Amino acid sequence: MSNKRDYYEILGVPKTASQDEIKKAYRKVAMQYHPDRNPGDQSAEDKFKEAAEAYEVLNDADKKSQYDRFGHNAFGQGRSGGGGFSGGGMNMDDIFSQFGDVFGDDGFSGFFGGGGRSRRGGQTGGARGSNLRVKLKLNFEEMAKGASKTIKIKKYIKCSTCTGSGAKDKNSIQTCGTCKGSGQVRRVQNTFLGQMQTVTTCPTCNGDGTSITAKCGVCKGEGRVYGEETINIDIPAGVQEGMQLSLSGKGNIGERGGSFGDLIVQIEEEAHPQLQRDGLNVAFDLYLSFPDVVFGTQVEVPTIDGRAKIKIPAGTQSGKIFRLKGKGFPQVNGYEKGDQLIHVNVWTPQNISAEEKSNLEKLAQSKNFEPNPEKNEKSFFDKVREIFS
Ligand SMILES: [Zn+2]
Ligand SMILES: [Zn+2]
Repeated sequence: MSNKRDYYEILGVPKTASQDEIKKAYRKVAMQYHPDRNPGDQSAEDKFKEAAEAYEVLNDADKKSQYDRFGHNAFGQGRSGGGGFSGGGMNMDDIFSQFGDVFGDDGFSGFFGGGGRSRRGGQTGGARGSNLRVKLKLNFEEMAKGASKTIKIKKYIKCSTCTGSGAKDKNSIQTCGTCKGSGQVRRVQNTFLGQMQTVTTCPTCNGDGTSITAKCGVCKGEGRVYGEETINIDIPAGVQEGMQLSLSGKGNIGERGGSFGDLIVQIEEEAHPQLQRDGLNVAFDLYLSFPDVVFGTQVEVPTIDGRAKIKIPAGTQSGKIFRLKGKGFPQVNGYEKGDQLIHVNVWTPQNISAEEKSNLEKLAQSKNFEPNPEKNEKSFFDKVREIFS
C-alpha cells in the first residue's frame, strides 16, 4: 500500500492531460485488463482495480487537485479511517458503476458483453448517497504532529426499522415486473461493429429490482433517516489550512440500501496566540529591552512544541533573525521540515521618568550610541531574501 503507483503513470498520461485524454486512457487500460477478457488472472484484476482507482481520482476535479498537491497522502484516510478508495478499497460494483460515465455514452459497454453493471447480479439497492463536507479546526500542535479526532456529524443513516429497504415488512417488497428483479434492462443495437448489447438501469424500479407496496412508516419508504454518527478521523502530520481529507464511505447513505457517499473534511487553522505560520515555517516576534540586546541575555520563546531557550548574544541588532532549525511544520507528503524564525525587535520605552530621561540624555552624547552600521551588515532585504531562498 505504501508503494502505490502514481495515478498518472497507471493511466499512462502526462500531468497536463485533459479530462478527455484521461477518460480515453482509462478506457484503454480498463479494456485491456477487464476481468471478462482475463478470466482468472489476478494480476490483470489488480491492474484493473488500480486503473479504476486512478480514474476515480483524476476524473474528479476536487480529488485531482488534492492529489496533485499532496499525492497519495491526500487520501491517506483510507488506511485508517473508512476503508477509502486508496489502498484498493474500490470494489467491483463501484468500478462497474463508473462505467456508465466512461463507456455508456457511446455504446462502449457492448464490448464487455452486457456492460459492467451485469456484475451487480442480483444485488439490489438505490443510488449512492451524497458527499458530506465538514470543517475541522486544528491548533498548531495538531497540524504539526497529526491528530486523532472524534467528531459527531449529522447525516443520513440506514433506517433501522426496515434495515434500509424502505418497505413496511417483507411481504410489501415485490419483484419488479419490468426487469424481473435484475434491476436492468437489456437492449440490442445494430452498429457498424455488429450487434451490440447495451444494459441500462431499469426505469421502473431505478435499478432496485423490487417495488414496494407498503412503505416503512419511520423513513416513509426512503430506507434512511437523518441521524448522527461518531467518526474517528486520523489527521496526518503537516496538514494546513484549506487542505481536504476525503473519508471514503463516511458520507450520507443513499436511499433504499444505496451505498455511502464520502465525508470531506476541510482543515481550518486555529490561530496561535503568539506564533504565525508561513508555509512550513513558523514566525515569532521577540521583543527585547535595549539593555538586554546590549549585554546579551537568555530568553524563552514559545514553539509549536513547548518552550525553547535561546541565547541572545551581546550587541544583537534590532531586526536580527534567529532560526530554530526543524522547529517548523513537517511536509505532509515528504521529509522536509520548516524552521522557526525569531525576529528580534528592540523595545523602545513609551513612558520614562525624569531620572531615566536625564540618564539617557547623558548616553546620547556618547559616540558609542551613534548608529554606525558596518558595510557587511546584512540589510533588511538581504535577510528577507535569505529566509525565503
Ligand atoms: Zn424504514
Ligand atoms: Zn425493475
